[in-house]
Amino acid sequence: MAFEGLAERLQGTLQKIKGKGKISEADVKEMMRDVRYALLEADVNLKVVKEFVKNVSERAVGQDVMKSLTPGQQVIKIVKDELTKLMGGEQSQISFSTRPPTVIMMVGLQGAGKTTTTGKLASLLRKKYNKKPLLVAADIYRPAAVQQLETLGKQLSLPVFSLGTDISPVEIVKQAIEHAKEAHNDVVIIDTAGRLHIDEILMQELKDIRAIKEPDEVFLVVDAMTGQDAVNVANNFNETIGITGVVLTKLDGDTRGGAALSIRSVTQKPIKFVGMGEKMDALEPFHPERMASRILGMGDMMSLIEKAQANVDEEKAKELEEKFRTQSFTFDDFLEQISQVKKMGPLDEILKMLPGAGKIKGLENAKVDEKQMDRVEAIIYSMTTQEKTTPDIINGPRKKRIAKGSGTTIQDINRLLKQFEDMKKMMKQMTNMQSKGKKKMKMP
Ligand code: GDP
Repeated sequence: MAFEGLAERLQGTLQKIKGKGKISEADVKEMMRDVRYALLEADVNLKVVKEFVKNVSERAVGQDVMKSLTPGQQVIKIVKDELTKLMGGEQSQISFSTRPPTVIMMVGLQGAGKTTTTGKLASLLRKKYNKKPLLVAADIYRPAAVQQLETLGKQLSLPVFSLGTDISPVEIVKQAIEHAKEAHNDVVIIDTAGRLHIDEILMQELKDIRAIKEPDEVFLVVDAMTGQDAVNVANNFNETIGITGVVLTKLDGDTRGGAALSIRSVTQKPIKFVGMGEKMDALEPFHPERMASRILGMGDMMSLIEKAQANVDEEKAKELEEKFRTQSFTFDDFLEQISQVKKMGPLDEILKMLPGAGKIKGLENAKVDEKQMDRVEAIIYSMTTQEKTTPDIINGPRKKRIAKGSGTTIQDINRLLKQFEDMKKMMKQMTNMQSKGKKKMKMP
């Protein structure tokens, strides 16, 4: 998980100051020394660290903090505000053209995730903004780059414009924009050539593509795992061809976070999206405030709720609630519930969005046993319809059969049956409590 070390150190430092009824300048100084180390260790740009420490210190020793009743809390709020500011403050939106097609140019070094992100972005624009994107294969140098984009297009059922590798990228882009107008594609996303290092000839090519029609966005794709290198690359691309935003990929890995915290300050260009995995739906808009909140262990309930809203089927959730209430919940419903939870992504990532998750002992190293869920699913699949609805009939021989069918043990079956019973008991108690509560409310 990204930011782990930084989060741990910052939270530890802030914990010390949190409950203090009085804070002196010396306290602030000491705290900021720790914060400085934590940021440097996370590979944050030195200039950025200095500026950050200066800003927080100035505000923290201000009269309104020192005199307040909860100075510790105030200082933490200042740290959060400044972290948010560092990452760009407000969430940065995509700028769409008023005269479609909107042209988005994707640039970046080879291996950063440019082609993958081109596919993810197209998919997100279609899903969230109702757009009809056209993908353009303008990387004619990397072997198989055109093919990679075509495969992504097929996988996503999105059109890809390509003219092979014998025509100049400038010509390809010109024709692609014309094609988009005819085919009513309102967004054109251009996958340009990647490069291993910043190289003048290829930079010139990007400038030439840029000159065809002023793009509405030029997104630089950088790999978060490369830390300060990512920041240097961003600076360089920005100065040479001009970018409008950054997509930071591989934030699902264990990057220390330096790039995410420095890019905005150094380049003055916002991080627009972050890549959270290899799958096509693993691209998320970047929210500075939510990220700051997560780093400081305050959780990210907004993202959690959005994830749930995007993945959980409301109708099914209602049905489930009704079954809870009437206690007609079966193993089939249990399966349904597991599949809904699974859709939200890896469980350990979800857990970390909860406020205070960092403080739960052992959670930082917890790898939720997803295999356990698979085992539960396998067991339920091995049950007959009757067993799923009336588990009371599951006797010794049945247990043996189910264990054999699901590749598990009798103990596994027993455990699941007990869990199911406990869950039913709990539901009963809850419904009882609710109905009692209602009666009470009706009383004058
Ligand atoms: P390009 O050379 O910049 O076009 O890079 P590719 O799109 O081919 O990506 C390089 C590798 O990085 C591929 O294996 C991708 O699956 C992987 N990748 C891209 N984005 C992400 C991400 O957000 N998370 C992870 N874990 N892998 C990614």
